[in-house]
Amino acid sequence: MRFDAPTCARLRRSLLDRGQVLATLLAELLAGKDKTRSIDALGLNARPGMRPEEILRAALDHVEALRKQIEAGDDRYGRCHVCGDDLGLAALTEVPWSDACHAHAGLAR
Ligand SMILES: [Zn+2]
Repeated sequence: MRFDAPTCARLRRSLLDRGQVLATLLAELLAGKDKTRSIDALGLNARPGMRPEEILRAALDHVEALRKQIEAGDDRYGRCHVCGDDLGLAALTEVPWSDACHAHAGLAR
């Protein structure tokens, strides 16, 4: 892992927090509340036609997968999933769940 332990712990914590936000929204959505605006505000990647529930589940899976990468010391964390470019700690600190460089942002996995 190219990040030191405190940095990994901080990024992992941010991913856990993000997962909590997503899980809470999903629970509220499943309880019948309209969460469209909250979901839009998160700026999640969504393919056309995806239902809000699907968008949240996909985002949750994504955050969980990245958290597991950090916990496993997987070097793929923090790299673009297409070209492997290192996204850099500054970008990851801002958005710990990012997984694509600018050139490949928005591409479906
Ligand atoms: Zn890339």
